[in-house]
Amino acid sequence: MNIENKLNINLSGKKVTVFGAGKSGIASVNLLLHIGAIPFLTDMNEFVNINEINCNYELGGHTKTALDCELIIISPGISDKIEIIQKAKYLKIPIISEIELASWFTETPIMAITGSNGKTTTTMLLHEMCICGNLRSQIVGNIGTPFSQIVLNELLGEIKPDVFVVEVSSFQLEHIYHFSPKVSSILNIKPDHLDRYYNYQGYIDAKLNITKNLKESDFFVYNSDDEILLKNYSNTFEYYIPFSLNMETRTPFHLNNTKVYYSEKDNQIPLYFLNECKLIGNHNIQNILASATMAKCFGINEESIREAIINFNPVPHRIEFIGQIDGINCYNDSKATNLDAVNTAVSSFKNPIILILGGKDKGNTNFKNLILNSKVKQIICYGESAQSIYNQLDSFSNKLVIPHFEKAVKTAFDLANENDVLLLSPGCASFDQFNNYAERGDTFKNILNEFQN
Ligand code: ADP
Repeated sequence: MNIENKLNINLSGKKVTVFGAGKSGIASVNLLLHIGAIPFLTDMNEFVNINEINCNYELGGHTKTALDCELIIISPGISDKIEIIQKAKYLKIPIISEIELASWFTETPIMAITGSNGKTTTTMLLHEMCICGNLRSQIVGNIGTPFSQIVLNELLGEIKPDVFVVEVSSFQLEHIYHFSPKVSSILNIKPDHLDRYYNYQGYIDAKLNITKNLKESDFFVYNSDDEILLKNYSNTFEYYIPFSLNMETRTPFHLNNTKVYYSEKDNQIPLYFLNECKLIGNHNIQNILASATMAKCFGINEESIREAIINFNPVPHRIEFIGQIDGINCYNDSKATNLDAVNTAVSSFKNPIILILGGKDKGNTNFKNLILNSKVKQIICYGESAQSIYNQLDSFSNKLVIPHFEKAVKTAFDLANENDVLLLSPGCASFDQFNNYAERGDTFKNILNEFQN
């Protein structure tokens, strides 16, 4: 099947294989059924729950039936390095991601956000800015409801959105062809998911794909403080709009010690004062600048942008303050699953830190690059990667290996003094001991709550 010209794509009566029976795979199947295609679902996992699916499927492995199709939708969790996908490439069967599929069936403008860290916070904030600006905004993608499901709801007339705010992972961006956001942004690029890519450049290339279909009438918002982004987008077009914590002439918003402001007729007008917002840390100012700049590009007024910023509540599991227990300041940053996020958290505190690291390594994370400033007074390494992290931190002596999470947290608490920060910012995925980062964060909170009584 030729998918080069989007206008000529007709999936009616066509066989389409969906790889992966997770949320986005099921959503793809439902969208395909609605538009009259003949989906076939295939998953390696034998025990996946697919009760409500209305198409042929196979579980427990991918057989050659999966290649009897004209188009493949690949779920973000599946690497295109696997043999059957390599074979599909050889057979020249087009392979697209679920967001690409969804984007073929909607005319609603898209604002899309990617980056190594900060996607969820920025996406939620931008969505709130849209709502404050009286737009019917739908938040979709990596963050919750698959794009295909929301587009199906739109086709069924159940919703009439003005804009989709889409959080996009590098995995989804690996297979886009026509996906073309009206406003897009890359927040930052730092090493992550190196278990999935041949090398760091592979990951960078996937992220940069978000600008693949950029037109002059679109906007691309990028972090000009980020080395990789600066290098790739320094050839500035008018529709490349930077944001920065430093003084930059081309940014719509500027920052000083007390406020973020914009200029009109040489007057500096405050967008918000830093103490009006509940999000802490410079990284969150970057997230705010990114979402405000995107909102402005989309035509949302400054009052609505401001209203969203000052009413925004931090998202759980991201440097989330749990409380002071026995005088110890406890923070849950379970969503910090790469080293950049850990360094961000460590640099957000002034008090001594007891840091809990570990979990399941996402591939070649170099913990030697951990910023071990004088604030970090003790490190506890837990989980599958505990010993390896311990070995890598050779220049740091106050460290322990405690593989079991609960024991690790309890030991960390015992070692903390009044006014210290007890920080779970693991720098690894959670899957060795938990179903996901949220379960890890909730467990951390529950363990600490026991100390409260
Ligand atoms: P993502 O959806 O990209 O994982 P989140 O908003 O969920 O981003 O935050 C994930 C982790 O990254 C958290 O530990 C958070 O404190 C940290 N973080 C958030 N924004 C940034 C940023 N702009 N730069 C670096 N780290 C960030």
